[in-house]
Amino acid sequence: MDTYCTLHIGFDDTDSPKGMCTTFLAYKIVNYLKKQKSEFLDFPRLIRFNPNIPWKTRGNGAVSLKIKTKNPSKIKNKIKKFVSKYSDTLNGANPGLVFYEQHDIPSSFTQFSELALWQLINREQAKTFAKKNNLEIFYIGNGQGLIGAIGAIGYKFQDHTFELLCYRKSSKFGTQRKISHQSVKAMQKRTFPYTFNSYDNKKSKVLIMPHSPDPVFYGVRGEKIDVLLNATKILETEEKLAGHLIFKSNQGTNDHLKNTFTKSTMKPFASGIVSGSVLDKPQITKGGHVFFSLDCNGEKINCAVYKETGITHVALGLIKEDKISVGGGIRKASKNFPRVLNIEFIEIISIKKQIIKSNPICNRCKKSMKSKGTKQGFQCVKCGSRSINKNNIEIPRKIEKKIYLPDVGAHRHLSRPLIRLGKLNKKSYFDESSSWFSIYKN
Ligand code: ATP
Repeated sequence: MDTYCTLHIGFDDTDSPKGMCTTFLAYKIVNYLKKQKSEFLDFPRLIRFNPNIPWKTRGNGAVSLKIKTKNPSKIKNKIKKFVSKYSDTLNGANPGLVFYEQHDIPSSFTQFSELALWQLINREQAKTFAKKNNLEIFYIGNGQGLIGAIGAIGYKFQDHTFELLCYRKSSKFGTQRKISHQSVKAMQKRTFPYTFNSYDNKKSKVLIMPHSPDPVFYGVRGEKIDVLLNATKILETEEKLAGHLIFKSNQGTNDHLKNTFTKSTMKPFASGIVSGSVLDKPQITKGGHVFFSLDCNGEKINCAVYKETGITHVALGLIKEDKISVGGGIRKASKNFPRVLNIEFIEIISIKKQIIKSNPICNRCKKSMKSKGTKQGFQCVKCGSRSINKNNIEIPRKIEKKIYLPDVGAHRHLSRPLIRLGKLNKKSYFDESSSWFSIYKN
């Protein structure tokens, strides 16, 4: 008699800027597995990794599934075919697929996954890891996708969010998406604070719809699956959609900014945080970007705050000796520019008093006194009163002791939004019968 086994399936790098999407492949695979009556043991997982690696298509996302099956060989063969069919290899995708046939995931997998969140991993490292750990691998091209595929299986949630992704009918792929902006605004308002980053009120912009020609129509991010399902009922689209899949994800958790950079880990394309004291007056470029440097335990770190983040005014408000903590990704040095930390948030830890010296004010006439020359003191031109020293004047600071985040439109998938500050989702209840997957009947 056949016995059941637990099968973990991880895949990545199936899309290109010209088409397809790894989550759409997941939707197709889930549909197949459901038809095979495979039992799902958890939500499909959409795990975002280091957003600063240079070869990602969009948000550096990979997917994993955990199922119970009697026939793993048949399933593996079929999924290999799905990966070959739904990968945009002609336009640069390097798909990676991994299978792991054990119920529990070893801690070495989790460690691999944690490193992929903020470091640059070599694909040969992934291949060696797979060999050493009895992972079955399948790849096309150079196998870059194996990093995300292994990482997605190994990932352990400390906090999570959900995303409901709604897919288009294939006849609509590549055509313009049309959604009522009012309905997105209304959805955001009615589901607050259980959904996030759906509509940018400041710029009147819809944030749930991609602009690339992939099969996704929209994705609603939030804390609970029932809220996401309700959100889809509020949204009004011009076309009939094909179906949806809800993913459990590390989006909105700041997962890539948990480690503090050291001198040895501050390498190009790595993500992390540093704390230090502002070394110089921030400078603004013609394009509106702001540059300054930090002293972090004697190490000088060049920092850049780009105009698009909407927080250049905060950077410009910094003065020498303010203490701050910043997070972001390391940009490689070029011929004309040094290595720079591209900032994704600024936390003001302590604010230096800003004092300027000015000529004293005459007590009687309330007028500013005039200098009598070097070391000669000051005198009121009206009544002749004299004073020796200049006055100290404290200039009010424009920044406060708090965290400044970029505008929502400039958020990365992993960025923790303001409404999620201090929020941790530890447990999620998976119910196989709930509507986390649906093919619409229309
Ligand atoms: P989408 O968000 O639309 O799914 P994407 O942005 O995830 O696309 P991919 O086409 O999947 O882009 O490319 C990301 C590639 O980077 C994958 O091959 C993945 O395995 C690899 N990768 C992920 N994390 C790292 C890392 N830390 N170091 C090196 N490579 C990585």
